[in-house]
Amino acid sequence: MSLYGRLFHAAVFPAWERLRGRPTMAQLAELERSQWRSPAELEAEQGRALEALVAHAYRNVPYYRQLMDARGIAPGELRSVADLRRLPILTRDVAARAGESRRSTGEPRCVVDKLTGGSTGAPLRFGFDLGSEHWRHAIKLRGWGWSGYRVGDRTLYFWGPATTLPPPFSKRAKVAADRALKRERYIDCTERGEAELSAVVGEIRARRIERLICYTQAGVDLARFIVERRLRDWDDVPVLCCAEALHPADRRLFEQAFGPEVVETYGCREVMMIACECEAHDGLHTSMENLIVEVVVRDGDEERPARPGEQGEVVITDLHNYGMPFIRYANGDLAALGPEARCRCGRGLARLASVDGRVAETLRAADGAPVCGILFSRIFSWSDALARTVQKWQVVQHLDGSLTIKLMARGDVDAEAHADLRRSLERYLKDVPYRTELVGEIPPAKNGKQRTVIVER
Ligand SMILES: [Zn+2]
Repeated sequence: MSLYGRLFHAAVFPAWERLRGRPTMAQLAELERSQWRSPAELEAEQGRALEALVAHAYRNVPYYRQLMDARGIAPGELRSVADLRRLPILTRDVAARAGESRRSTGEPRCVVDKLTGGSTGAPLRFGFDLGSEHWRHAIKLRGWGWSGYRVGDRTLYFWGPATTLPPPFSKRAKVAADRALKRERYIDCTERGEAELSAVVGEIRARRIERLICYTQAGVDLARFIVERRLRDWDDVPVLCCAEALHPADRRLFEQAFGPEVVETYGCREVMMIACECEAHDGLHTSMENLIVEVVVRDGDEERPARPGEQGEVVITDLHNYGMPFIRYANGDLAALGPEARCRCGRGLARLASVDGRVAETLRAADGAPVCGILFSRIFSWSDALARTVQKWQVVQHLDGSLTIKLMARGDVDAEAHADLRRSLERYLKDVPYRTELVGEIPPAKNGKQRTVIVER
């Protein structure tokens, strides 16, 4: 780390946060301590935070008061993850329909309001209070810190476009000052043509970037561009991958373009960082002090906790958002819980073994059985022939069940690659008609994310 970086991290950043009235440093210091506690201690703390949240929600949030009254649950009865299961899962649709009744009518109220994108289902309006914002900030800094990130590193964000209207000038000036001080450079990742990627490489060189933080698939496009054109002339740059899944083949590309330190993080807009890889690179530690993360298998009205390694739906309780509580919220993602044994790093935080895409990306086999869309990222990295030729792919399942598999390739896709694809489909999606289509480009969606599996509904 450079002298400016060290100075900034040790002195300027703490003073800057104090000036902005944020308790970041104290909260971060506490999180740095709590991560080493035993799983049992961390779970006991979650129980205490849950009890306080539920008491607040019962007193101040009409939606939760009605729900608990209807089920005959008194607030003091919910004190652990096991108790929590007495409440139903809050789906995104239910949350959207509940609207303002999920907002707290007493202090603390929401100070930040947001809307999640509507790429799947209806957009969801939500908010959080100031205390929750501070938690989110500190949790993110801790997670990113596991791979050595420090505020003040010369950082390039290859990032999705802003999703809100441009803020007023005074706010923009504050954001610009904040970024300049921290030496952060933001580049919108929506356009990824030759000119745009060349410009990003120019920035990496000119600013001698020390860290890349990116939307995963945008970073993959950049890494591929660098590897194919042999543009790398820099030392290792650690990469933090956010917002989209990181597949095994992606990791290899990042390693060639930027070096071996590639970290997967997992979050969503509603609660921010849910889990993050540590330096052991063996699953993602969940943010236990701020969230209860369950992985649940649902079958009709029945539900049960997933077994370690078994894929299920991510269900989150945000322990510190009192402004608009999320209690047992299914955010639409699929994941598997990690090994129960303690991580080699020694932290007591529970782990996710993998984050496997979205429920909405679940395909249907010929007999109607669900097939997880993540299958395709495996197929395209299992097969050497496919990995060698196909740069990008996108699978669309149409209403009639048939598939269109779009391939963006270097030259022709050879017979061996087609044969590998056919064999995989025969095994997992037998009798589902499909056609492949060679395309010149697969552009990202408007939010900057690259959708790999689209199920038409
Ligand atoms: Zn670890």
